[in-house]
Amino acid sequence: MNLEEYKGVFIYAQQVDNQINNIAFELLGKARDLAKTLDTQVTAVLVGSGIRNLADQLAEYGADRVIVVDDPELKDYRTEPYAHALSEVINKFKPEIMLVGATAIGRDLGPTVSARVGTGLTADCTSLDIGDFPLVARPGHEDEQKHNQLLMTRPAFGGNTIATIACPDNRPQMSTVRPGVMQAIQPIKGAKAEIIDFNPGFTPNNKYVEIEDVVKVVSETVDIQKAKILVSGGRGVGSKENFKILQDLADALGGEVSSSRAAVDNGWMPKDMQVGQTGKTVRPQVYFAIGISGAIQHVAGMEESDLIIAINKDETAPIFSVADYGIVGDLNKIVPRLTEMVKAR
Ligand code: FAD
Repeated sequence: MNLEEYKGVFIYAQQVDNQINNIAFELLGKARDLAKTLDTQVTAVLVGSGIRNLADQLAEYGADRVIVVDDPELKDYRTEPYAHALSEVINKFKPEIMLVGATAIGRDLGPTVSARVGTGLTADCTSLDIGDFPLVARPGHEDEQKHNQLLMTRPAFGGNTIATIACPDNRPQMSTVRPGVMQAIQPIKGAKAEIIDFNPGFTPNNKYVEIEDVVKVVSETVDIQKAKILVSGGRGVGSKENFKILQDLADALGGEVSSSRAAVDNGWMPKDMQVGQTGKTVRPQVYFAIGISGAIQHVAGMEESDLIIAINKDETAPIFSVADYGIVGDLNKIVPRLTEMVKAR
């Protein structure tokens, strides 16, 4: 593999039913940073059927080029034809970096494609940078560094450590990235990208899985990743019923209620509301951590919030080290008072 042939930062622009998933815009935001450091272009890969009209949106969110693979075979997501399309794009255009969202689709597509094109994949990354990678583990090369590598960071060993992983010998350097971690740029209205139509060639009468019916699950819960204000409760809240005081505060502030895993495990909150490593990554303008100790697995999902306010009766709780403001005391007294004060304003 001649690594020099591989150029540019590519992102997979996931769409379903002609709607681009937010993760594509988040990946474009990160791709712009990486491309600036490497002095290269950002390319979005758009795969589907009747989706060419979506390319302009990707340009507005930072794509210099959009490669469009538009074929009736790609109407609904199926591993085989989508993996074929993305692998062929990689074989033809040779990206240096290929980013895919760690969504249900991306977690299926990313590893399938990386195996096909013969490269590695770091799954579920929470941070990406360009930097030097030391080859300390290679006998005879211990003092060497590989320059300008994609340094892919993700929690490892059950979240007890953070691993930085590189792929120094293969291209593209591939990773799936957690939704909600990277930041999209402010869209630039009317921005244009070069659009390249690409046909990966589908074999007629192939034996792809046939989809008979698509049944959509309508979630009755709110999407905490979209909330601007989150009032999050943990084991310290004490009971399902007591989450009412958090809901009152959230209502007064125009926010939503979320929780730690302990509250979910106790059956006080639905799993959809869990923030953290095995829950959702959130980045609201204001995050209240109420009766939450601040375990590393929880903090991994909320530390990028603009403003963090912690309420905890234990002044040594680790949550105070990530909080911008901390209130030490009993949440049962503090939260209702806060709600009254907000309502009075
Ligand atoms: P606790 O740690 O029990 O903390 C409760 C806090 O409430 C304490 O600090 C206490 O001082 C305070 N408190 C008690 N009563 C009051 C009161 N009256 N007033 C004010 N404060 C009070 N956790 C997550 O949250 N999200 C995840 O995604 C996640 N993923 C995980 C993945 C793995 C692989 C593992 C091993 C763990 C994961 N965890 C996750 C669990 C995590 O390690 C913690 O156990 C969990 O976050 C603790 O939740 P908590 O802070 O609500 O409870």
